[in-house]
Amino acid sequence: MLKAKCPKCRNEAVVDEDMTKVDCSHCGFSSSYDSYLETMKGVAQNMSDDYQANLNKSGF
Ligand SMILES: [Zn+2]
Repeated sequence: MLKAKCPKCRNEAVVDEDMTKVDCSHCGFSSSYDSYLETMKGVAQNMSDDYQANLNKSGF
């Protein structure tokens, strides 16, 4: 089984064999793989926004 990163709790989630579904046993996150990818894009975007904000705060 494939492993994925849970967008909700950031623990390890599992992708099913058909790559159609993502399940996280840690927080109960469950999603289709397609919307999981969309969610992860959003999470990555938020992370880089935070990073940018931290850079600005540090004054560089
Ligand atoms: Zn989770």
